[in-house]
Amino acid sequence: MKIKELQIEGAKILRENNIDNAVFDSKELLKYVFELNETDLFLRTFDEAAPEKEKMYLQYIAQRSTHYPLQYITHSAGFMHFDFFVDEGVLIPRQDTEILVEEALKYVSEHYGKNPVKVLDMCTGSGCIGLSFQLERKAEGCNDEVYLVDISEKALKIAEKNKSKLGADATIIQSDLYSALDNSLKFDIILSNPPYIRRDVIPTLMEEVKDYEPMLALDGDEDGLKFYRKIIENAPDHLNPGGSIYLEIGFDQYEDTRKLLVDNHFTDIRLYKDLAGLDRVVYGRLAES
Ligand code: GLN
Repeated sequence: MKIKELQIEGAKILRENNIDNAVFDSKELLKYVFELNETDLFLRTFDEAAPEKEKMYLQYIAQRSTHYPLQYITHSAGFMHFDFFVDEGVLIPRQDTEILVEEALKYVSEHYGKNPVKVLDMCTGSGCIGLSFQLERKAEGCNDEVYLVDISEKALKIAEKNKSKLGADATIIQSDLYSALDNSLKFDIILSNPPYIRRDVIPTLMEEVKDYEPMLALDGDEDGLKFYRKIIENAPDHLNPGGSIYLEIGFDQYEDTRKLLVDNHFTDIRLYKDLAGLDRVVYGRLAES
């Protein structure tokens, strides 16, 4: 079969299995299996497919047809300007989370200029938040000290892999939230996208998410707020005076997280919306006493 015919066949199978973006995914899998870039996709489209590659392609199409996420097959997820390695051990980086990194970068450059800042990425997963923050600042000539923390050993292996693949600098620590962090270690900024999905909402998530992404990275307990409580209540002990926090939140979690921040000595609370216009990131600065 020619490469193009194979792709059309792949898209058809995906569509029959109710996969959104069937054409896009069929092309991404084609690029992955045949090692093609965007230009090759046009130039080599009428080449004959080698039988073993054809077989491999159809296997991946079958796998994607079960709603297994595309990014876990290709082990690749774009975030900010970087390509992150991902597998089932980590949540796939979301475009909405880029808002958090972008706002934090703006804030740091306004308030700290090129001075190095100490940053904690709490519940780092693939490392996408902390590593892209570090790399974007490095490109501006800033040498920040970035710490990536997660409870999951699997996640930290991937964060480590991304750190070397992208040539980033970061200290990686396995810890249940702050528990393994020395109390003398103080940060200027805490960034976090913790698990925040309410238990009762989990069954309504897309199959791609609820069947294959790590529940550990999604489950925010009964009210979805468990991790915000623990992260915010203990944040003052781990921040320098005037330090601040950026948290990704669900679309209906602003009021609750704002209140937690206010109750724990944070001020200047701000809310940022995502591209769909939904509440997505909350910011607070530790009041100087
Ligand atoms: N935004 C993710 C989702 O929609 C959830 C991320 C999280 O729980 N931290 O599935």
